[in-house]
Amino acid sequence: MSVYWNARTRGLEPYVPGEQPRDRKYIKLNTNENPYPPSPATLAAIKAAGADTLRLYPDPTALELRKAIAKRYKTTVERVFVGNGSDEILAFVFGAFFESGAAVSGVAAQGPGTTQGPLPAQGAVPAPVLFPDITYSFYPVYANLWSIPFRTPPLAEDFSIKVDDYLGLSGGVVFPNPNAPTARAMPAIDALRIVAAQAKAKKVVVVDEAYVDFGAESVVPAVADYPNLLTVHTLSKSRSLAGLRVGFAIGQEELIEGIRRIKDSFNSYTLDRCALAGAVAAMEDSAYYDEVNARVVATRDRTAAALRKLGFQGPPSTANFVFMSHPKVRGEDLFKGLREKGILVRWFNKPRIDQYLRISIGTDQEMDALVQACAGVLRDRDAEA
Ligand code: PMP
Repeated sequence: MSVYWNARTRGLEPYVPGEQPRDRKYIKLNTNENPYPPSPATLAAIKAAGADTLRLYPDPTALELRKAIAKRYKTTVERVFVGNGSDEILAFVFGAFFESGAAVSGVAAQGPGTTQGPLPAQGAVPAPVLFPDITYSFYPVYANLWSIPFRTPPLAEDFSIKVDDYLGLSGGVVFPNPNAPTARAMPAIDALRIVAAQAKAKKVVVVDEAYVDFGAESVVPAVADYPNLLTVHTLSKSRSLAGLRVGFAIGQEELIEGIRRIKDSFNSYTLDRCALAGAVAAMEDSAYYDEVNARVVATRDRTAAALRKLGFQGPPSTANFVFMSHPKVRGEDLFKGLREKGILVRWFNKPRIDQYLRISIGTDQEMDALVQACAGVLRDRDAEA
């Protein structure tokens, strides 16, 4: 705490990203990056953009990139927004569409992800935004940043999202599909039941499709039918560009205009010239990325099968990571054991999921090493017992 911080800053509980360690070389399976490089065309475009035009500001409307995205997703430029990573877009979205309320400080005080507060009385404070109790842990951080009340309906035992929990009164809904960190996807038809129910109340539903390219069903085609549906995407995972920081959203014009109002009240140039050029090239090089992602999916399925053979359990994965636990070893011990063996995965010290590890899918070689290391941790444990 500092005397210089205002009440808002004092109340923040910032998101903690997966570590980017420097102490030794790890097999890094902790931040869901793509193990394969961006396409040669993408890298060439980034280099060319950096060559001679960096003294000039980039296009604040990112028109060329929005055109490339619109073409790829068979929509119009007016229905595309781009941002500095999808995290930035999500931050703008919370500010653009969800109402702040007096109930917030009480909600925030309980800490992100744990809130199970009652629905506030209608009219007294705005209805809370809904997202699952186990989901991307940046959502409660954004809600707190903008003083937005939120409620977190629990996932079912099998970690599926209970659709019925999202059909009633709300201040809006946000969820990833597939969900993170569970990797479990819901069919598009279920996601659209939520969108349709909230459409009646004119509430925005944000479907965060960060991992959709690894086998889940996208709801982008339904954007044409639902003015309250916004899909959010990233180039960090399926386009191997986590370091470039590019994300995009697809929605009808009113929603895109709403996000743009926030962005243009904050920073005109959220994407630099290198990012814009690289992202255009990546959007135009689907053949390369489709092939890379098919490799990730094949490695994922092989790895999940090998881990299940060792006794690991977890929901089926439709993402570029798996979420697994072992009945005989504590999640924290597994996490630490793997770390000692030079493999970094993600462990969340949170209710319901502290037995689980989220393991990003690397190359075949890296995943063979992971499976071997898991077997090693289990052996070490048996030897101690
Ligand atoms: N949504 C989800 C569900 C994520 O897991 C992530 C990655 N941490 C993001 C959004 C943000 O991705 P980026 O900011 O790199 O586009």
